[in-house]
Amino acid sequence: MNLLDFSNCRLCPRNCGCDRKNSTGFCGCSDKLRAARAALHHWEEPCISGTHGSGTVFFSGCTLQCCFCQNFSISIEHYGKDITPRRLGDIFLSLQNQGAHNINLVTPTQYLPWILPALELVRDELKIPVVYNCGGYEKTETIRLLKDYVDIWLPDLKYFDSALSARYSRASDYFSAASEAILQMVRQTGKPVLDTSGLMKKGVIIRHMVLPGQRKDSLRLLHWISENLTPGTYLLSLLSQFTPFYKSSSYPEINRRITTFEYESVVEEAIRLGLTQGFMQEKSSAKEEYTPPFNLEGI
Ligand code: SF4
Ligand code: SF4
Repeated sequence: MNLLDFSNCRLCPRNCGCDRKNSTGFCGCSDKLRAARAALHHWEEPCISGTHGSGTVFFSGCTLQCCFCQNFSISIEHYGKDITPRRLGDIFLSLQNQGAHNINLVTPTQYLPWILPALELVRDELKIPVVYNCGGYEKTETIRLLKDYVDIWLPDLKYFDSALSARYSRASDYFSAASEAILQMVRQTGKPVLDTSGLMKKGVIIRHMVLPGQRKDSLRLLHWISENLTPGTYLLSLLSQFTPFYKSSSYPEINRRITTFEYESVVEEAIRLGLTQGFMQEKSSAKEEYTPPFNLEGI
């Protein structure tokens, strides 16, 4: 099966099988590559943002559609502008010229048949690493396909419990897909490599955002990481910034920020398990300003 055949789209675990020329699948994306912002971004982990910023391209649409999505105007409502692979290649080079430490593809999976040609077009000129910044809901075949294109993986690992992933992201198979995908990312990319100034050149950063009322699910994820990944082969980023966006008000149990106790109990367990290579946030960082303006800048 050709994974890039968008007339029978099976790019992600949804396996919709739709013809993207004439219809759309779960993600709602057509055969037009669409993006909402391309700019230097300073809010990623320090080894990604560095001093100049990460060259971030925010794509429209998403294969998950989480009920609390911070970027819902683009990921779910599809705000953005249609562009060609040639234009996307030029955007990559423009970000590099602006001093970006890397090219950061945010929620890219549904557009791989157009993003890979864009990366090919600029292969000789692009000197900075490519970051794949995704919700973690990926197929291992798709990760393998990206072996020669992606240097740094930045996946979420959102839920252990399938009832939670079904309720909040309409994906009961989230953990089985994301855990296999992350194992593949680590296998194929190897341990993290940072340069002398602390900038990441290759490797995997697993992100987990603690959800309100769900710290026990976070603890189960930490135990899975501890039991299945070798120390030193990945970095862990524990996020405290949950803010109840989008449809969170329809889910009363998560319609609030997390408490200091919730976050600290997860951090304490990570430390107890020896999962200390990575990043933890100040609890006070739960600010809405983390959402960048989606105004077609750089597109
Ligand atoms: S990328 Fe979109 S259309 Fe393709 S399988 Fe995933 S959700 Fe379905
Ligand atoms: S995976 Fe991320 S971008 Fe996609 S809907 Fe969920 S929170 Fe939004």
